[in-house]
Amino acid sequence: MRPFELTAPATVEDALASPGTFLAGGTTVVDLMKLNVLTPHQVVDINELPLRGVDTSDGLRIGALERMSAVAAHPGVYPAISRALLLSASQQLRNMASIGGNLLQRTRCTYFRDVAMPCNKRQPGSGCAAISGANRMHAVLGTSDKCVATHASDLAVALVALDAEVRLAGSTGSRTVRLADFYRVPGETPEVENDLRPGELITEVVVPRLDWASRSTYVKVRDRQSYEFALCSAAVALDIQDSHVVDTRIAVGGVATMPWRLPAVEEALRGAPATLESFEAAASVAGEGARPLAANGYKVSLLKRTIVRALLELTEGSR
Ligand SMILES: Cc1cc2nc3c(=O)[nH]c(=O)nc-3n(C[C@H](O)[C@H](O)[C@H](O)COP(=O)(O)OP(=O)(O)OC[C@H]3O[C@@H](n4cnc5c(N)ncnc54)[C@H](O)[C@@H]3O)c2cc1C
Repeated sequence: MRPFELTAPATVEDALASPGTFLAGGTTVVDLMKLNVLTPHQVVDINELPLRGVDTSDGLRIGALERMSAVAAHPGVYPAISRALLLSASQQLRNMASIGGNLLQRTRCTYFRDVAMPCNKRQPGSGCAAISGANRMHAVLGTSDKCVATHASDLAVALVALDAEVRLAGSTGSRTVRLADFYRVPGETPEVENDLRPGELITEVVVPRLDWASRSTYVKVRDRQSYEFALCSAAVALDIQDSHVVDTRIAVGGVATMPWRLPAVEEALRGAPATLESFEAAASVAGEGARPLAANGYKVSLLKRTIVRALLELTEGSR
């Protein structure tokens, strides 16, 4: 790891005036500094900032520095969110890692994390070793000829499904952005992963109230049952009456370059009977636009099966 200067401001204003790389739990940023993927000269520890707390009085508001474990354990948090968190990383990591840091974690693409390999995301213009390399873990949706890395956050998938917003503070003021609009597909510029401006902080995550999201879940398929990133995941909320789907929210992870909302699947489900047949029919459009690579074609069918599994889990006993 290269030497760096560390500051620890106590107010948001001071943090915004401090140039450097923000450090929250450090579970991504320190890892990447050790690998020389990130080599900041100045690191700004933001843990003293008053950005904690979970408020469930109207929807959900989560301070950006609240820890993953605290949010997962909060009784007022929608099940899709708490399950996504509990299926992430390990208890020790969840105790360290913050909500804001989770949303800004970097891809786990092995070529991004290996400075000896070309990677357009880490070093624009150097090429993408994954496209012709070991790409079993990589994305099939939202890819480009420059980058096929998946977005790694489980939490972000649940939040995108539930129409969450992030509140951002910068030196010129504050703004609010829908999380679904915050993330970027790689296109020609895979190094630009989101809408965050230089020096801007995530201060809070806001999830609008959605009473029927009490019937929601997060299903994660991975190579082993703990401590592993998703091959495919699905966050689903479902409103059912008289054995028919009234409304639904669906997003998937592990298969795309950003948390991937599926409006066509949601539309196909509205008004449909809550049966295996209609779930399979709706999920069949989930892979539209997929561009499989040599080793990850299995994700196209896994994607559909994961959505169906989540829908079946949510309708057990009411079909
Ligand atoms: C072994 C291992 C397994 C893991 N498994 C999973 C998993 O299964 N699912 C999953 O979702 N994640 C997983 N993770 C990732 C982990 O959840 C993230 O590393 C963690 O959430 C990042 O949070 P942090 O507070 O430690 O962020 P940091 O490492 O401190 O920061 C991450 C990034 O966010 C920036 N940042 C942090 N907070 C803010 C803020 N408020 N405003 C602006 N910028 C900010 C930092 O500058 C940095 O770029 C795993 C990590 C490890 C090491």
